[in-house]
Amino acid sequence: MPVLGLDVTVPLADGRRLQYAALDQAASAPVLRQVWDEVAEYVPFYGSVHRGAGHLSRLSTELFEDARESVARFLDCREDDQVVFTRATTDSLNLLASALPEGCRVYVFETEHHAALLPWRGAEVTFLDAPASPAEAVARLREALAAREDDGPALVCVTGASNVTGELWPVRELAAAAHAHGARIVLDAAQLAPHRPVSVRELDVDWVAFSGHKLYAPFGAGVLAGRTDWLDAAEPYLAGGGASRRVLRREDGGLDVEWHTGPARHEAGSPNVVGVHALASACRALAEADLAVLAAREEALLGRLREGLAALPRVRVLSLFGDQAPRVGVVSFVVDGLDGADVAEHLAASHGIGVRAGLFCAHPLVRRLLGEGPDAAAECGAGGASPLDAVRASFGVGTPVEH
Ligand code: PLP
Repeated sequence: MPVLGLDVTVPLADGRRLQYAALDQAASAPVLRQVWDEVAEYVPFYGSVHRGAGHLSRLSTELFEDARESVARFLDCREDDQVVFTRATTDSLNLLASALPEGCRVYVFETEHHAALLPWRGAEVTFLDAPASPAEAVARLREALAAREDDGPALVCVTGASNVTGELWPVRELAAAAHAHGARIVLDAAQLAPHRPVSVRELDVDWVAFSGHKLYAPFGAGVLAGRTDWLDAAEPYLAGGGASRRVLRREDGGLDVEWHTGPARHEAGSPNVVGVHALASACRALAEADLAVLAAREEALLGRLREGLAALPRVRVLSLFGDQAPRVGVVSFVVDGLDGADVAEHLAASHGIGVRAGLFCAHPLVRRLLGEGPDAAAECGAGGASPLDAVRASFGVGTPVEH
């Protein structure tokens, strides 16, 4: 699929120019041409959403609500699911965390991205140790849920594809295990959705979260889609205009507020209509794409990358499940004796290859894979490169095969 931003040359340290190889798409993917064109067509005409009677406002409201339908179709949602627009996956999972029913227990593997590991601050959280295989993941979850001492509400949060190893997790089986024990499950599809179809019905998950900027749309919009009951029963995630149906001044001086139900309840304020339009456009583009062709390209690239790395001395590819799980186009590795940050710097300066070094906002997992103890110092997203850094190369639907 045509993708913008890949056809650029970059200057190398030795003065040559080389075509840039953007292999950091698990962080943020470049934008699909089709998405950019649709956004460019719309931007001169946008107006406020749900707030105006004028033509542009109506057009924007229509596009915003059509976007919900595109996302619901893309995710193969159930009839009564709702699609809430957020800023990104992190925001979506924090929104769900804010909507947990009283006494809810959360189950999450230590291997998760911090966006899935950290938001459950008000709840009792059971952190599950890293499994060595997909089957062990299911068994470990079953065991933990079976050990529950009450039948109160419970939520399992699980990734579809790891942002560190690219390995696919057994989502359908984990969902079945959760439901068999009366728990709900939310799928972090931030890395899965850009590479594989995600069907809420087929996977039988209760919610799905993903980010537009990893799905070949520009930054700024994300999704939480799924069951309405917990979301409608919760306090609004953001309080303000749009979320409130009626606000009345009471005689005692306070306010009586009646909140909307449905997506509006959690979408207070003027929404990011351009970001949402772009995200929905990316969903439509991917839904129309020939997935078999995309999967075959990805498989070819992945094979080449893994073979190339395997042939290099002192390079070790990080993996939790070994050969027991399929992978998307995300590969992390370490070079024995070299700091990952230096490797990444060298790849950029001498070869025009953009990769990421670090612990990829999944510290417990990467530390485990590096064989480090839990107290090793590291920072995430703050520019802090630790000597423990790994290197991650990741690609997407537009990555040229000749890279
Ligand atoms: N989950 C996974 C698996 C991710 O890879 C990421 C981002 O890298 C996130 C969640 C968080 O996504 P965002 O930064 O768009 O909120």
